[in-house]
Amino acid sequence: MQHHRSSAWDSILNAQAPPRVAVVGGGIAGLTCARELSLRGCDPVVFEASERLGGRCSSRSTRVGLFDDGAQSISGATRLAVHAVQRPGELATLHPWTVAATPAEEDRNATHWKKDEQEADVTRTLTLMGAVGVPSMVALASSLARPLDVRLGTPIVQARRQGARWTLSSSVGEIEEDFQALVLALPAPLAVPLARESKELADALRAVRYRSRWVLLLGCERPVPLPGYREFQGSPIERVAAMHSKPGRPATGPQRWFVEADERWSLQHEDEDAETVADLLLDNFREHAGRSVMPNYLRAQQWRHAFVETPANTPRRTECLWDDHARLGVCGDSVVASQVDRVHHSGVDMARVVAEGLTFRSGSSSFIPVDRRLEQLLEAQP
Ligand SMILES: Cc1cc2nc3c(=O)[nH]c(=O)nc-3n(C[C@H](O)[C@H](O)[C@H](O)COP(=O)(O)OP(=O)(O)OC[C@H]3O[C@@H](n4cnc5c(N)ncnc54)[C@H](O)[C@@H]3O)c2cc1C
Repeated sequence: MQHHRSSAWDSILNAQAPPRVAVVGGGIAGLTCARELSLRGCDPVVFEASERLGGRCSSRSTRVGLFDDGAQSISGATRLAVHAVQRPGELATLHPWTVAATPAEEDRNATHWKKDEQEADVTRTLTLMGAVGVPSMVALASSLARPLDVRLGTPIVQARRQGARWTLSSSVGEIEEDFQALVLALPAPLAVPLARESKELADALRAVRYRSRWVLLLGCERPVPLPGYREFQGSPIERVAAMHSKPGRPATGPQRWFVEADERWSLQHEDEDAETVADLLLDNFREHAGRSVMPNYLRAQQWRHAFVETPANTPRRTECLWDDHARLGVCGDSVVASQVDRVHHSGVDMARVVAEGLTFRSGSSSFIPVDRRLEQLLEAQP
């Protein structure tokens, strides 16, 4: 009896090891995909080149405090919100961000807001900018990554398919693990060298174009007379966002401003050095905020692959690419628009396609989703 029970457990545990999936890229698309894959019974590992999570939806710690240095808000947060309901707790770090038309109005509203959040005339003067991560934009990535196996500081430089398995190499050598499927969740120009085993996907990725963008992270000791968020027309600056106007950030102390150059200006200054760009953008900021603005922190940062110009063509009704033969997938803004909620959904879709691909193709052999494995373990009990 005892013998019978352990062999049933052994056969279930050995035969049904969850499929291992390598996900390259620890931005929102890659992390969402990995999170969904693990919920679907797979065993994903995320490889992230840098030492920080979130990719372009990230935050930077500086001596004057935290800056959101990429995405400022999630405008189409509806799908994210729906997802949060389906997966309770996952996106609890997202909060609405409302901004008034002028700083004075913002102060007034902030006081009123605390007094009575339901006051109708107060809500009318505020504009909802979307949802933001609290305490910073990286909170979304951190909450997605919490239960996952994420390898930071691991740039993947080569991906090879050997038989039915994928093997990867990082900049320090071969990774001694293999995977049944590979997902590329990084900007197309960086993904092309890793997609060589699928001519179809490599060709699709080669056609994708990106635009670069300069941003300025600016600390100011004294308050700046601008509302917490403003877009400009006909200016080298496309928009500015104040960190203190977002929920969950300190409202006192030095002000921190995110200043985003516009597309054309960023292109014209693409090969300029960061110090020159910082001075030029500060000058432009002063045009809008007044000559008296005195920075106590200044850092220009260039996002080489900031926004996708032409995403890859996808088959109807999918938001990702999948080569079933190579078991290779692509998700993120290479296949959808450069918006956080779109890449999040692309990651969800990718996980569905990968898990279905692995389940149906290996049908009679190894893979059964985790819930079913648990059922079988229980069934095997005498
Ligand atoms: C300045 C700026 C402002 C923006 N503002 C907004 C906004 O307000 N609202 C909005 O919705 N969207 C905004 N976006 C767009 C949004 O941030 C992106 O579309 C989205 O975050 C992309 O997510 P992703 O996961 O597809 O890619 P990424 O975030 O780029 O993630 C890819 C990850 O892959 C990693 N990587 C690269 N190469 C390798 C490798 N070889 N091996 C391992 N890892 C690798 C990178 O380090 C990165 O972490 C903004 C973008 C920028 C740049």
